[in-house]
Amino acid sequence: MLILPRDILEKIITHSRGALPNEACGLIAGHADGGVKKCEAVYLLKNADESPEHFSISSEEQFSAVADMRKHGFMLLGNFHSHPTTPPRPSEEDIRLAFDCSLSYMILSLSEAEPVLKSFIIDKNEHSVIEETVEYTL
Ligand SMILES: [Zn+2]
Repeated sequence: MLILPRDILEKIITHSRGALPNEACGLIAGHADGGVKKCEAVYLLKNADESPEHFSISSEEQFSAVADMRKHGFMLLGNFHSHPTTPPRPSEEDIRLAFDCSLSYMILSLSEAEPVLKSFIIDKNEHSVIEETVEYTL
């Protein structure tokens, strides 16, 4: 389960709308206790691909975000990217690029009037995609 503060959700939505028509991306960090991940920080990053169908995070941005997490005692919990015109489901490429089955892979769909965020645990070796419960807090 992922606990996500509403203000972080709002930041992800604003960042993703600002990146349209391209996909947006970023990282989330916080603490994990047992199966519960508590998101406490979001890093809104550039989509190095500048594409409506793909995203990648530059290694420079990845390194500086991870350095900032260390400074604050956070761990990397997962990442997010947006789907400007498609539902919030991992594409074949999203599954292929999922490198860590302990991370949360969040997808924000902007294809409908109301944005929809879903989070997934992806094990590409098993080709399994499991939707993770997201609980919103103030
Ligand atoms: Zn995707």
